[in-house]
Amino acid sequence: MKHPLLSIVVPCYNEEEVIQETIKRLNAFSATLTDLDVELIFVDDGSRDGTRALLKAEAASNANVRIVGFARNFGHQIAVSAGIDAARGDAVVLIDADLQDPPEVVSEMIAKWREGYDVVYGVRTERPGETAFKRATARSFYRLLNKLSDVPIPLDTGDFRLMSRNVVDVIRAMPERDRFVRGMVSWAGFKQTALPYRRAERFAGETKYPLRKMLKFATDGIMSFSSKPLQMSIGLGMAAASLSLFGILYALFLRVFTNVWVEGWTALMIAVLFIGGVQLVCVGILGEYIGRIYSEVKRRPLYVVQEYIGYPGDHAPQFS
Ligand code: UDP
Ligand code: MG
Repeated sequence: MKHPLLSIVVPCYNEEEVIQETIKRLNAFSATLTDLDVELIFVDDGSRDGTRALLKAEAASNANVRIVGFARNFGHQIAVSAGIDAARGDAVVLIDADLQDPPEVVSEMIAKWREGYDVVYGVRTERPGETAFKRATARSFYRLLNKLSDVPIPLDTGDFRLMSRNVVDVIRAMPERDRFVRGMVSWAGFKQTALPYRRAERFAGETKYPLRKMLKFATDGIMSFSSKPLQMSIGLGMAAASLSLFGILYALFLRVFTNVWVEGWTALMIAVLFIGGVQLVCVGILGEYIGRIYSEVKRRPLYVVQEYIGYPGDHAPQFS
């Protein structure tokens, strides 16, 4: 009898220190799933270390392993998207390569899926081993995002989740370039539920999310799911304009009714600098959105795959 297929998608970027342990844990976990077939899809996001070679060595002897090898580093969210594209399973699990998301929690996700849920997302109750800065910025980011976003996006939720084929097909049909996968899944709807879990420490190596990538990730999240910054910039502009009205009246008053009008240089500077600043901020916000429109209209592929391994003939996966 044919079992349902579970695809486990693992984005990897320079993870040579952990990848063997991750493979071991995922293999051991797969072996416990007696009534499911499992495929492990490792998306190598252009690693510059030995990650790809280690994955290939495993694929050579393990028929469950597939590799999607990117031609360069495209970023975590794109790697996750490629894994979703390449997954053929009836359910797809997204999990980090660093063992911060324990594979064992996936069995609870599977149980919920069998109860009829289409999305089971992990909610981090604790995040040991992460810097206070990371925890604080993550905490405020998820709260800000939730305030701004047009669809409710659950708090403190990463990409660690299980999705049914229904949801996977919706995500695959979403053509946007700026991927914010957890938001896209929320947007898709269906029956979703939370699963609290304790986020472990990174098994080895260090975070592949420097501040620069975190900022890009955060702006993608906010800008793909909200146009409120645009509306707020109108509000900011109007507030500044009304403030400057007082300044204008004051300046006119001095000019017409007094002879001290050479003074007021301070007020002038403040007004010029303030309005200049507000304008720059608003133009910047506009620019961010326009940049995104530009990258959408270029219609470039989302990622470039150098090699598929573990699929028949090592070609891109075929869907029947
Ligand atoms: N990752 C990736 N491409 C990148 C950065 C990260 O595929 O450009 C992967 C990384 O290998 C890991 C996951 O994304 O499996 C999460 O990254 P990391 O653990 O460094 O982030 P953190 O847990 O510190 O937020
Ligand atoms: Mg991590």
